[in-house]
Amino acid sequence: MIEKPPGPFDPGTGPGAPSADPDVHRAAAELARRVGPAVRLTVMTGAGVSAASGVPTFRGPEGLWKRYRPEQLATPDAFARDPRLVWEWYDWRRQVIARCHPNRAHEVLAAWARRFTRAIVVTQNVDGLHERAGLVDVVRLHGSIWEVFCSEACPGSPPRWRDERVPLPDLPPPCPYCGGHIRPGVVWFGEALPADAVARADAATTCDVFVAAGTSALVYPAAGFLHQARRRGAFTVEINPAATEASASVDLVIRAGAEVALDAVERHLAAHA
Ligand code: NAD
Ligand code: ZN
Repeated sequence: MIEKPPGPFDPGTGPGAPSADPDVHRAAAELARRVGPAVRLTVMTGAGVSAASGVPTFRGPEGLWKRYRPEQLATPDAFARDPRLVWEWYDWRRQVIARCHPNRAHEVLAAWARRFTRAIVVTQNVDGLHERAGLVDVVRLHGSIWEVFCSEACPGSPPRWRDERVPLPDLPPPCPYCGGHIRPGVVWFGEALPADAVARADAATTCDVFVAAGTSALVYPAAGFLHQARRRGAFTVEINPAATEASASVDLVIRAGAEVALDAVERHLAAHA
């Protein structure tokens, strides 16, 4: 078999092989120049980072389930009205996510967290794919679909616990402590974000480089972290195949999927290590 040497338009042929798109290649090289062990690096991720793994985003048509919009299901009112319906949706999402695997974006971020002691990943995702890629300490702004807690907050129950059964045997699942309903450990529309995660995310906006990857920059307060990082002097970067409201105000845009962009940055780092 004849092996082709890695060339400029041969993505995926070895460390340092650049992305096929010259703009992506240039932007990835620029980001690679700015990250490193001594740099305070914060990466905020959204649903787009898991898109290549097959996890449906909320805003595309694939986000619909039985003609319901997520805004009609991911709310405390919807759960109070029809806990079974809400749990059917979450049980379906858990089944979809259980079949998905972390992609190159999750892998690169987990590798950076191991190599760069000052790297922090803040995520809006609830799918657990960062953790499955080996990321140990991820700041979860919206909770986890693999955690549950008692909707009655009954005195005997822990604040939250992991339940990874797929599918769940009973819907809605009963609380093992009081017999009431448990609910998904995610933040619903209209609910407050966990204060400890917000505090850590807020502190992480004091950094040298702040990257927003796969987020539409529409959902506050998460979207506000990017602007706060900029005000605090960070070099700001957007990784997204589509333009967002934040695009015009960041220092660098990498117009590609996170799995492509972060892979390209990692290749530059490997080539210049
Ligand atoms: P969002 O508002 O974060 O938007 C997704 C963004 O990803 C869009 O801007 C899109 O252009 C971009 N994108 C698409 N493919 C991409 C890729 N390959 N690489 C990088 N970016 C890509 O997400 P949403 O779906 O509107 O969800 C809003 C909230 O709902 C999330 O913040 C989260 O809490 C929850 N949610 C979580 C998951 C998950 O855990 N994976 C999935 C759906 C929704
Ligand atoms: Zn209970």
